[in-house]
Amino acid sequence: MNVVIIGGGQAGLQVADTLRTEGYEGAIDVIAEESGLPYQRPPLSKDYLAPGKEAAPLPLRGATFFLDKNVTLHQGVRAIAVNRAERKVQTTEGSLDYDHLVFATGARNRTLNCQGVSLPGIYGLKTLADAEALHAALPTARNIVIIGAGFIGLEFAAAALAHGCNVTVLEFAPRPMGRALTPAMSEWFAAAHRSQGVNLRLSEGIDRFEPDTDGRLGAAISTTGASYPADLVLVGVGVQPNDTLASDSGIETSNGIVVDETLRTADPAVLAIGDCASFPSAHAQGRLRLESVQNATDQARHAARTILGAENPYTALPWFWSTQGPYKLQMAGLPRPDDDILIMGDQRAAKFSVLCFRDGVLAAVESVNNAADHMAARKLLSADIALTRTQAESEGFTLKAAASSPVSV
Ligand SMILES: Cc1cc2nc3c(=O)[nH]c(=O)nc-3n(C[C@H](O)[C@H](O)[C@H](O)COP(=O)(O)OP(=O)(O)OC[C@H]3O[C@@H](n4cnc5c(N)ncnc54)[C@H](O)[C@@H]3O)c2cc1C
Repeated sequence: MNVVIIGGGQAGLQVADTLRTEGYEGAIDVIAEESGLPYQRPPLSKDYLAPGKEAAPLPLRGATFFLDKNVTLHQGVRAIAVNRAERKVQTTEGSLDYDHLVFATGARNRTLNCQGVSLPGIYGLKTLADAEALHAALPTARNIVIIGAGFIGLEFAAAALAHGCNVTVLEFAPRPMGRALTPAMSEWFAAAHRSQGVNLRLSEGIDRFEPDTDGRLGAAISTTGASYPADLVLVGVGVQPNDTLASDSGIETSNGIVVDETLRTADPAVLAIGDCASFPSAHAQGRLRLESVQNATDQARHAARTILGAENPYTALPWFWSTQGPYKLQMAGLPRPDDDILIMGDQRAAKFSVLCFRDGVLAAVESVNNAADHMAARKLLSADIALTRTQAESEGFTLKAAASSPVSV
């Protein structure tokens, strides 16, 4: 049996790893268009950009992994076509036969389409090459404008502040990280970033970029007409799934490669996982496409077992983290704007959690600098224990205690 994996990122390498751990002995080929050893993306917007630090990528697996596990990594090679009738993948270096094919192609950054967007000094942040360019530019940057107050934009804002830069964030929506957080948590983060010195402009998008007299980037002009001096701009306006190769081979896509609860596409020999996959989720009560390390690794483990014959549905609890300067945000479950919330802990001391209740029971928890609450929330929510608001409001209640003795809550 041959397994071919397209994409040598977080999800792709985990499938290979789990296949071997579970005793699969056939061939495994990973097609990875990026050259060099596959690396972790999360540090690229955090530690990698910290001032005074020797910047070094963190590999996802050591070089010996590929030898020890007998996994063939095709570095710097791109998959360009899939022939499902013949079960072949065409790559830039030849073709590979498969019995099972896994799309783990991730996502690419959305780009802006406004005047001045190709001026030198405007960056995105997705790859190690992007992070290397930003690492080199940050020490001499003074005025930074960030387009988009999502996770990447705000992580970068904190990194830029640490370099002593003036930082403005333009966000079209009325609250930061609005797609993922409750309004209460968004508002807390807006105030927290402002207190650190970020000029966070909400309900204000980018209109255009203007050059300075030397033809380099000079200013960002917002949708209100305001002009913000800028010698460096980071565009962090979200991503799009890499699903064109799949759709070109006749596989259904709709904001991602459409898979069923076992992570197979309608073609049972083809699976999709990680940032590129749209999957049915009981946690979302509908289809979901997630961009997180948890989702990539848990789906990869599940897909490996599906390949080896398991038929059970993928049901892992989504969880996520984002480090923004002194604030470590962690989420368990999927918060919704209309959740009934209960705030526990000390917001002023930046150590608290927002408990989100839906239909009367705990459905998600957002925590700031509170790993104990986050771990307890994951335990409770994964075990599907119905914790009510009344229970959470009772004297002496803590998530940790509830998770360690769930029967008593
Ligand atoms: C800067 C940054 C910070 C992040 N921080 C966090 C965080 O704090 N917490 C968190 O949970 N998540 C974070 N994420 C998200 C997380 O890194 C992704 O969700 C995760 O990497 C997804 O894994 P993946 O394998 O699906 O995609 P990726 O890791 O992106 O891997 C996909 C790979 O497939 C390759 N590929 C695509 N098409 C082809 C082709 N045709 N042929 C060959 N190769 C191909 C791509 O080049 C890429 O290398 C961050 C992401 C970024 C960019």
